[in-house]
Amino acid sequence: MQGDFALHHRVFATLNIESVPVKVSSDLESVDGLVIPGGESTTMSLLIDSYNLRNPLKKYGATHPVMGTCAGLIMMAKVVPDKRVNPLGFMDIVVDRNAYGRQINSSTEMVSFHFNSATKMELSTTLIRAPKISEMGKDIHILGEFNQSPVAVLSGHFLGLSFHPELDGIKIFHQILFDPTSSVYYKKINQTYAA
Ligand code: GLN
Repeated sequence: MQGDFALHHRVFATLNIESVPVKVSSDLESVDGLVIPGGESTTMSLLIDSYNLRNPLKKYGATHPVMGTCAGLIMMAKVVPDKRVNPLGFMDIVVDRNAYGRQINSSTEMVSFHFNSATKMELSTTLIRAPKISEMGKDIHILGEFNQSPVAVLSGHFLGLSFHPELDGIKIFHQILFDPTSSVYYKKINQTYAA
């Protein structure tokens, strides 16, 4: 609908996972999971309603994995303190838009991620007018932090990222949510947290 979906298709292609654009609610019927890409959350809020996608998306998210990157993370939140944004409320988090500064402050940062006891890594991540997760409810697992703020959070079958993994060709987050054969598949990570 809006945002940088093309590079997400490329990440899926390198993982040999088929991906298709989702533009209307009937497109949701044929997909096992959804990415809400980066872009502009105010525009996404308007388009979701003008395309009558709000209820279909909420229903879809109740039973399917959804990943939100950057503006997509904003759309995943329960609360966004900006009246122009009407988020989907998938994750019990408060997200502040543009909290890392304006476009000119966009940056690439080294972030250490911890997926499970066997998988930890430092990744160079790109933040573009990135949103900050300012509050979190229960059952939100932090997978990575930058400057003491979470930038990657997992909650059940929802994954929210402040940055753009697709810009740096980072595949592990797509594997977490969409590759059941991966050692970091979200169901396995959730089991570790439950243990
Ligand atoms: N600042 C944008 C917003 O508020 C998000 C930017 C992005 O997705 N790179 O929606």
